Amino acid sequence: MSRFWSPIVSKLVPYTPGEQPKDRSFIKLNTNEHPYGPSPIALGAIRAATEDSLRLYPDPSAGALRATIGASFGLGVDHVFAGNGSDEILAHAFHGFFSGKDKLLFPDITYSFYKTYCELYGISHRSVPLDDDFRIDPASLGGPCGGIVLANPNAPTGIALDLAAVRSVLEQNPDVVVLVDEAYVDFGAESAARLVPEFDNLLVVQTFSKSRGLAGLRVGFALGQPHLIEGLQRIKDSFNSYPLDRLALAGAEASWQDTAWFEETRRLVITERHRMAEGLRSLGFNVLPSAANFLFVSHETRAARDLLTGLRDEGILVRHFNKDRIDNWLRISIGTEEEGEALLKVMAGLVAG
Ligand code: PMP
Repeated sequence: MSRFWSPIVSKLVPYTPGEQPKDRSFIKLNTNEHPYGPSPIALGAIRAATEDSLRLYPDPSAGALRATIGASFGLGVDHVFAGNGSDEILAHAFHGFFSGKDKLLFPDITYSFYKTYCELYGISHRSVPLDDDFRIDPASLGGPCGGIVLANPNAPTGIALDLAAVRSVLEQNPDVVVLVDEAYVDFGAESAARLVPEFDNLLVVQTFSKSRGLAGLRVGFALGQPHLIEGLQRIKDSFNSYPLDRLALAGAEASWQDTAWFEETRRLVITERHRMAEGLRSLGFNVLPSAANFLFVSHETRAARDLLTGLRDEGILVRHFNKDRIDNWLRISIGTEEEGEALLKVMAGLVAG
């Protein structure tokens, strides 16, 4: 605390990212990274860009990447915004579309960065409770408000809404921006991207961090009608925020083109998710139905915190959130089959012990 801090900084509760350990090696199932990593073709493109072009500035508009992404959704380049990870895009969207208005609505259990951005930008907000099964009731997201934010699939529950439910949220709220954060959509949910031409208040945000295995490159994108994309671009250009660098542009573009790698590795993750869900259920866990690359689980008799520590002692990291209602739950990222086996083995010992 310093007497020079503004009231906003004094009250800020920064987002706590998942642990990235440096001291020893862990089986890391705590931050939803992709076990198989990026496409080898994308790595080749990054290497080539390193050798050929770092002397030159990147294209500040990320035009080629935006056009490539847009085309695959049947949208033009003016419908696509590219940012340094979806976190940056969320920051710009909160700043640009939600500040200075009525209360922003989002579920009470969701990605905790939303609350942090509200505090940072002075956005008033109201959290809408999930139902007893941790589901979002689309009818609860509406009424007078300054905007809606919806993670689909939701995090950390992994539960997805279908497209009809997302559509109903859009229809209920035509006068505010509805942001659908689709960080995990490729692992089993329906994207709202196809609704973009129909709704001028829809912003869909996706990332290369999860299903494309490029969390370290920091690339995300948003899809929306041109007036929303221009709004984001105005903020980005007015901010000390950087265009995507040449390595990010080259890697993301090549990764997007390598659909074979994308399909194959996401299939492996989905198969492993089913296997893990079954394995954990047979050990007495309640496992929420996940459409993401993680499972949200709670044990009948063992406390989540004890399991968290027990796993850590055996070199396995998973995620726990100190939050009402989910204090006895753990979020487990899907890794390789070998990593999953190691986790199940340690869990079996912990729940038996
Ligand atoms: N949205 C959700 C729901 C997330 O879980 C994450 C990852 N922590 C992000 C957005 C941000 O991802 P990135 O900035 O790596 O694109």
